[in-house]
Amino acid sequence: MKVLERLNDPELGQRMLKLVREKAVRAADRLGRPAVLMEVCGTHTTAISRSGLRSLFQGLVELRSGPGCPVCVTAAGDIETMIGLSRIPGVTVATFGDMLRVPGRDSSLERERAAGARIKIVYSPADALELAKNNPAAEVVFLGVGFETTAPLVALSIKQARDTGLNNFTVYSVHKIMPPALRSLLDSGGINVDGLILPGHVCAVTGSESFRFIGEDYGIPAIVTGFTLVDIIDSVNALLNKILSADSATSNNYRWVVKQEGNGEARRVLEECFYTGAAAWRGLGIIKDSGLMIKEELSSYDARNKFGLAASICDEPPGCRCGELLRGLIVPTDCGLFGCRCTPTLPVGPCMVSSEGACAAYYRYERGE
Ligand code: SF4
Repeated sequence: MKVLERLNDPELGQRMLKLVREKAVRAADRLGRPAVLMEVCGTHTTAISRSGLRSLFQGLVELRSGPGCPVCVTAAGDIETMIGLSRIPGVTVATFGDMLRVPGRDSSLERERAAGARIKIVYSPADALELAKNNPAAEVVFLGVGFETTAPLVALSIKQARDTGLNNFTVYSVHKIMPPALRSLLDSGGINVDGLILPGHVCAVTGSESFRFIGEDYGIPAIVTGFTLVDIIDSVNALLNKILSADSATSNNYRWVVKQEGNGEARRVLEECFYTGAAAWRGLGIIKDSGLMIKEELSSYDARNKFGLAASICDEPPGCRCGELLRGLIVPTDCGLFGCRCTPTLPVGPCMVSSEGACAAYYRYERGE
């Protein structure tokens, strides 16, 4: 069995899984349907697909993906703006590699690069800063994509540019924060979520406290979770316990990394550089206070300001159901394009591009199950 092969002690693992399955049966009895547990972190998405856990709990627990992959939730309009940026003479776009292949309306950063645009793959905002230092004649624009985990590093790079007087470095920030997105998702009422597997990395910055509202306002249990298979199984077990005992408090199962108040230093640097404003999410629309915008006093490092970028609005590619997928309404195989017109080699939607996207993870690990 795939899951057991991945556990250090298969015998102990078997006993643990038996216990969790028994609870899953009781929870399904109580709910009158399989319990729906949602993860909202691309690393969890990949770990769950790779582990085979989904098939092990088939009919008892539905493990659904939500808006946890930063590339996937980047709105189609923002992809168009990024493509537009790469066409501005003198601009060099610096980006994480995943963004390159996200299809836009009629192009992608990859296609623009093949047509001659200056687009460089970097592994950190510090690399982009270095690129700007070494190429004073170029206007280097870093594409700031990601959640609370990557944004502090971007904030540091902006501060460093300011402190060293670098004036050819800007950031196009489409950074997003998770709590307002979860609120929006739960308010939409589109899916009955019985429990949330919370993103350990995000919570390490924000603190578990930032997610207490899930239990208090929505009566849904949520658990901050680490990234090993045992961490995930343990959180599934804990969520089932909470469902069975009608306990909706948010708990922290990743205490050795996540503090209730989060990482003070990271939160400080975020507050120094960004303010929160409305942001467009693929699948979720515009969500109030869910985006990190560069503060007025640092506006010379804001690509929106320097290049007069206006927000673009753009539809999903025809037939693509990434939006529904990111709301947990469907699983990848429900999309008619999955595995035929949409594959990792020729992706139609972003969820098939990023290694953290649910469609890419399903395609790689769960096809045919
Ligand atoms: Fe979008 Fe492709 Fe996934 Fe369909 S299979 S939802 S088109 S990424």
